[in-house]
Amino acid sequence: MMNCASAGDRPNFELNAWLEDQPPRAPFPHVDSDLAADWLIVGAGFTGLAAAARLAELRPDDRIVLVDAARMGEGSGSRSSGFVVPLGHFAGSARDTAALYRLGKAGIDLIRQQVLAHAIDCDWNDTGRLIAARGTPGWRALTRIRRALDRAGAHYTPVSGEQIAHTTGMAGYLDGLRQDESLQVNPAKLLLGLVEALPPNVLVFERSPVQAIHPSNPWVADTPTGRITARRVLITNNANANQLGVANHRVFPMQTYIGVFQGNADAPECLGTEPNWGLTSVERVGSSLRRVKNQLFLRSAAVCGLPDETAPTHRLEAIVDLHRQAMAKRFPHQRLECVNLWSGSIGVSANGSQYFGQAKQGLYCSVGYNGHGIAQGTISGQLLADLALERDSELLTCVLRLPNPWWIPEPKILYPIVKRYIGWLNWRFRDEI
Ligand SMILES: Cc1cc2nc3c(=O)[nH]c(=O)nc-3n(C[C@H](O)[C@H](O)[C@H](O)COP(=O)(O)OP(=O)(O)OC[C@H]3O[C@@H](n4cnc5c(N)ncnc54)[C@H](O)[C@@H]3O)c2cc1C
Repeated sequence: MMNCASAGDRPNFELNAWLEDQPPRAPFPHVDSDLAADWLIVGAGFTGLAAAARLAELRPDDRIVLVDAARMGEGSGSRSSGFVVPLGHFAGSARDTAALYRLGKAGIDLIRQQVLAHAIDCDWNDTGRLIAARGTPGWRALTRIRRALDRAGAHYTPVSGEQIAHTTGMAGYLDGLRQDESLQVNPAKLLLGLVEALPPNVLVFERSPVQAIHPSNPWVADTPTGRITARRVLITNNANANQLGVANHRVFPMQTYIGVFQGNADAPECLGTEPNWGLTSVERVGSSLRRVKNQLFLRSAAVCGLPDETAPTHRLEAIVDLHRQAMAKRFPHQRLECVNLWSGSIGVSANGSQYFGQAKQGLYCSVGYNGHGIAQGTISGQLLADLALERDSELLTCVLRLPNPWWIPEPKILYPIVKRYIGWLNWRFRDEI
């Protein structure tokens, strides 16, 4: 994970811009001695937090330990673009698309309930998200997305290229739609609010990476400064599950980047008529953008980091340049300064399916949302807790019936294939980048 913030024209490393205007937070403790618990949850992103809240609700007398490798508010979920979407994957069968949509909507409802119940200030914006295309292959992809939304029974309104230009100030979009049920949040503020809302039987530890888990009765998890024993373990560390020997050959990690650009304070109308808007691309390598007041957050997945690559400074400069070019295409008459660039990891599978279920006796796992896990991860975390507690529900049946992630080969064979595939997508959907 990395951060860069502007020093003149050249970005350099600093903090997560979503927390820029927030007061300093009191740290959570790190694991500094051996601990025993009824439950251990590894990873305090949206999935882990929802699992912890559910276990705490249904097992108020149990001791639940929730650990994260990073500081709260600095993990990948907090560095995401903050689109909370009911459906992020459009390629499945009619049945799977409808099931995913149902789960995604339940995830949004759960987040909404938590935000209201705990008065979480997370810059909630429910003006929907635009999904739009700039080139012909992108336009065809948009048609497929419309069909998928129709199959799922999802709400959307068509929008023309001119309407997009009016709303966002961006040039070059051909056609699009507004998906009304999606919303946008400040993901770091949401995540911190959810952590604060956990009841006292959840013990939260940050800066405590779990390095290995050992199957015994109870399970044992090693951190650098203490061992945690627990009867049951929930693995919710998304992109890093493989490091603990879970979801191997199913889900792999990838880095994606967000660049933050400063608008011209004297001409806010150049960024469109709405003070806050969000637009996602029709293709995964395309650029997604959010306007938050006078800043633009651009996520380009055209540059994805795989774990066999480091990110030396010259590569970061190239990534910043790619973000600048993407922005210049959309705002040809303005010079928008890139003030910040950061990355986070996502868990990816070959067919876009998440990994969910009981991996071994007493070990449960939900990871791999392919870059769309705020709503999906939230509902999956709750359902993972239900699975571990053997509580049946229609939604649990729904998630268990989703296709498993396809088998993938080991990294040294997989990564060159992924790079070639991304290269091809970048060429085919170059207008969307
Ligand atoms: C740049 C970017 C933009 C994104 N934009 C969106 C978006 O707009 N909308 C959307 O829905 N999704 C988006 N995503 C994806 C989204 O962040 C994830 O799908 C979502 O956060 C999944 O939640 P999670 O809790 O499963 O995993 P994560 O949020 O990744 O949380 C996993 C946690 O586990 C911790 N962890 C990892 N390894 C260990 C370990 N060994 N021990 C302890 N803790 C560990 C990590 O520190 C992390 O906090 C984006 C991701 C990135 C990187």
